[in-house]
Amino acid sequence: MDNSITELRSVGAARAALLNKLGVYTVRDLLEHFPRGYDDRSHVAKIADLSPNVINTVRAVITSEPEIVFTGPRCVVKLQIKDDTGTLKIVWFNQAYLTHVFRKRDEYIFTGMVKEARSYTQSIALEMQSPEYEKWNEEKLLSGGRIVPIYTSAGKLGQKTLRALIYAALQSAAHIGEFMPPAVISAYRLCDRDHAVRSIHFPESDEDFFMARRRLVFDELLCSQLAMFRIKGRVKQENGITLKETDVCPFLNSLPFKFTSAQRTALNDIISDMRSGYVMNRLIQGDVGSGKTAVAMAAIFTAINNGFQAAVMAPTEVLARQHFTSFSEAFRPFNVCLELVTGGLSRSAKNMAYQRIGSGEARIIIGTHALIQEKLSFFRLGLVITDEQHRFGVNQRFTLSQKGEAPHVLVMTATPIPRTLALILYGDLDISVIDELPPGRQHIDTFYVNSGYRARLRAFIKKQLEAGRQAYIVCPMIDETEDSAMRAVNEYALEIGEALPGYKTAAIHGKMKADEKQGILEAFARNEIGALVSTTVIEVGINVPNATVMLVENADRYGLAQLHQLRGRVGRGAEKSYCILISDTRSKTAIRKLKAMTQSNDGFELSDLDLKLRGAGDFFGVRQHGLPEFKIANLYKDMDILKEAQKAALEVYGKETEELKAEVDRIYKFNDQANSPTL
Ligand code: ADP
Ligand code: MG
Repeated sequence: MDNSITELRSVGAARAALLNKLGVYTVRDLLEHFPRGYDDRSHVAKIADLSPNVINTVRAVITSEPEIVFTGPRCVVKLQIKDDTGTLKIVWFNQAYLTHVFRKRDEYIFTGMVKEARSYTQSIALEMQSPEYEKWNEEKLLSGGRIVPIYTSAGKLGQKTLRALIYAALQSAAHIGEFMPPAVISAYRLCDRDHAVRSIHFPESDEDFFMARRRLVFDELLCSQLAMFRIKGRVKQENGITLKETDVCPFLNSLPFKFTSAQRTALNDIISDMRSGYVMNRLIQGDVGSGKTAVAMAAIFTAINNGFQAAVMAPTEVLARQHFTSFSEAFRPFNVCLELVTGGLSRSAKNMAYQRIGSGEARIIIGTHALIQEKLSFFRLGLVITDEQHRFGVNQRFTLSQKGEAPHVLVMTATPIPRTLALILYGDLDISVIDELPPGRQHIDTFYVNSGYRARLRAFIKKQLEAGRQAYIVCPMIDETEDSAMRAVNEYALEIGEALPGYKTAAIHGKMKADEKQGILEAFARNEIGALVSTTVIEVGINVPNATVMLVENADRYGLAQLHQLRGRVGRGAEKSYCILISDTRSKTAIRKLKAMTQSNDGFELSDLDLKLRGAGDFFGVRQHGLPEFKIANLYKDMDILKEAQKAALEVYGKETEELKAEVDRIYKFNDQANSPTL
């Protein structure tokens, strides 16, 4: 299986090069170059029954020598065929070489469009135009008289050639090894692997195809899940720091609010992890504003109460600073030294910060990627928290957790993901879900309007500003490049400024220096700016309770989860808040998406819908999550198989057969030190 394709008799250097373009290097690659579709040519029609203007397949004997007719630069090759019900004419255009292909009395299968044509006697007869053809034989038909595979192809490598190559590879491969334990095969009614691989290319029937596909999708998802469990298992075996002092009451009592029961449950999960003697690897998933940060603070309180340091890694400098401010506030009663580490620090400030961190004076360290990228050593790092996980990859998670002696790891994300998907994305983590918002949260009224409402909306914003509130305006994007985004934001901000005389407006965009951004955000937080015009840099985490309007131009451009994040920037204070989505789109999917925003404030509900509308491949952030690329599984279409495969993975994990283990090793390169883990 892992031999080079060049060892196949029909593959020379030129073909090998074409196959390489398709990512096919080995016989296995070739066998796993699954069809992208099928053409059902299994019904072989009788010539007498042919109907015009559809594609038909016939099996017939050639009754004439090929005839070639030249008309100017063009030529037509004509052929007469017959079966036991009648005769039919076939024509091909500009393929003179065909005269050398066909011979009288040979029997072929032809598949092609049948048309009505007027002959020179003016009578109307059917003819088949430019059909695909294959010589009839009993045992092997690849392109006609069966369900025919259609492949992703490259250059001169035609469908017929690919079919023949794959067929040859299947012939030369002995029985394809089974790696699934028999118990799983029977419990989940799977066909065997050999049958699946053969039938996915050349199915005998629709049922045969469905069986084969289900088996291959199941394999792919099961192996992916097992790989995740394997990573998790590795981490689980590591001895962790056992925290003994776990009374969090002093911290909880210092807060101006009571934890919701969902927050309490999540905190209990965390504390029992940190007492367990093993390393915690936990994801906290909760909608925007559900109070994840407060739970994280309580976890930090526990860590520092046991004499350890805690690090918080935020995806942007702005968020890191915001955390620094709110954490400083929350920990003021406990007299704790906090440290902010960002890329923007001067060398001497950095050195001093590093010194305080290394000596253990600093207990809570907040920062950006700088925390992992720089030569920073901690005194006793006991807990690492990464915020808004969707900006960090699995590898970055690992790097930070490797500082110090296996600290506990807590990941927070506001991207709501259905549970089944979360298991695939974060199968290496334990998951706690905060599925409840703090009491008294305002429902954010959401409107979806076309640009004809723009003037009225500006009047509405003006009213809100007059009442002392503030607004976010996400500017229309022409294209995604930073330069044009910056221009668009600046121009649009001028326009808004004119529409809102007497109020200060400001623009913010990704190209600004962190300090500059920070200055504007701080001024906005102090209510010195009425309307903040921006690109989606305000999407994550910003907390300004006095802002009550979120207006999004060209709203159809954003994914549901992103829109939901944007909306989460308002409704953070006591005042009624509004989210206004402007779009002139005609796309049905986009309209459904925008309507859904007006109907639901629930991130999980929206994420389910997002998945349905866009498919898992496009699901917001999923690509950045490092979702493994699947050869055949489609997470949206195959949700049912995913559930079964996950169930099987849980049952089989730890009891894998050698063969199954080897398959997971092979796919995810677990034995390859340089590349592991590749999830
Ligand atoms: P998240 O990080 O999940 O988006 P935060 O932890 O930032 O949410 O909380 C959002 C706001 O709600 C903060 O101002 C926080 O102080 C407040 N908050 C958190 N938990 C509660 C609670 N149980 N009751 C009331 N307010 C809360
Ligand atoms: Mg938050």
